[in-house]
Amino acid sequence: MEEQKRSCELEKMGCGGCSMLSLSYEKQLKKKQKRLEKLLGKFGKVQPVIGMENPWHYRNKVISTFTRGEGKRLQSGIYAQGTHRVIPVERCFLHQPALDKAVEAVRKAAADCKYQPYDEDRRTGLIRHVLVRHSLTTDEVMAVLVTASPILPGSKAFVKKIREFCPNITTIVQNINPRSTSAVLGDKEKILYGKGYITDSLCGVKFRIAPSSFYQVNPKQTEILYQKAIEAAGLNGKQTVLDAYCGVGTIGLTAAKHAKSVLGVELNQSAVRCAVENAKENHLGNARFLCGDATRFIQKLATRGEHMDVVFMDPPRAGSTPEFLQAVSRMRPKKLVYISCNPETLQRDLEILVKQRWKVEWIQGVDLFPMTEHCECIAKLTYCDDKRK
Ligand code: SAH
Repeated sequence: MEEQKRSCELEKMGCGGCSMLSLSYEKQLKKKQKRLEKLLGKFGKVQPVIGMENPWHYRNKVISTFTRGEGKRLQSGIYAQGTHRVIPVERCFLHQPALDKAVEAVRKAAADCKYQPYDEDRRTGLIRHVLVRHSLTTDEVMAVLVTASPILPGSKAFVKKIREFCPNITTIVQNINPRSTSAVLGDKEKILYGKGYITDSLCGVKFRIAPSSFYQVNPKQTEILYQKAIEAAGLNGKQTVLDAYCGVGTIGLTAAKHAKSVLGVELNQSAVRCAVENAKENHLGNARFLCGDATRFIQKLATRGEHMDVVFMDPPRAGSTPEFLQAVSRMRPKKLVYISCNPETLQRDLEILVKQRWKVEWIQGVDLFPMTEHCECIAKLTYCDDKRK
């Protein structure tokens, strides 16, 4: 009853971004479990979704878009679903509180410096978005101001004001995005203050995170996710491991402590640079990272007849490609651990793998995104012909 009352109150003040806000957390988990069973149950056992003890304030990243509010006041918030209309958001129950404070500081500093919000239709104005990341383990905060053009007048005063309003911010970056696509970040960056990255730890490994790197948004649940993935791989210090779609190397480096060697592949160059630095910083000399398309890379490995004992794959929402799956089957690792943020594309890809004689041992949901429809999951697969499991 209490929870329901709270949900109703939240929904009234909500921005519409959280589709499950009106359900109790228990009901949300049940709904997610049912969806996973419906989509994936035919492949193997779907273990109960692992939820959070406290499903609030879990997000470590926010993107807030600038707009002109009442009385021409500079405001920022999120796009209303399916539109480019900005709903002002000052506070969110899903964000780490440090994020909202940082966004407010950037907004106030930008208003003081008279920066004009970018208008997509007229293509006028300067500032488009602010992206803020927070590290739960180091408490570092990164603020990235996305501008439509490279010149930021009075940038020194801007930085000084942000630091005054929010001393927690340890680095400030300007990202330049002149394009009119829906991508938030552009390709060019200028460090205005600090190191240009923040550091976080997961499962005892330190990670450097750059503005454009993919990094899971719920650090507490991510640790559980990675532990389960490592458990699925059954690492004992002797295996060779491929970490495909590796981002800043989070899964591979967590696995490196329990493996003979790790090879990671990732498309985003700055994420690969971070992964290489992360390996050095953690003294994990048995891990290497390369920049490239995961499909082409694994096809090359398979053609060369190279073997891997374990393959972790963690593709984006669109899932993997039939060619990648074909190549992984040719390589025949003893274990394939598929980590997915989209059960629909996981279903499509498992369908292909099962036809290629893979067996799904189990599927495990981990709720990384309470209050939303999304659910992360892991599938553990072994090769049918392989008696050495
Ligand atoms: N394993 C990482 C990242 C997973 S997100 C983690 O847990 O944090 C998916 C990653 O795949 C992103 O970093 C994205 O940049 C990368 N990616 C997208 N398409 C790719 C491709 N074709 N080849 C390699 N990596 C790709």
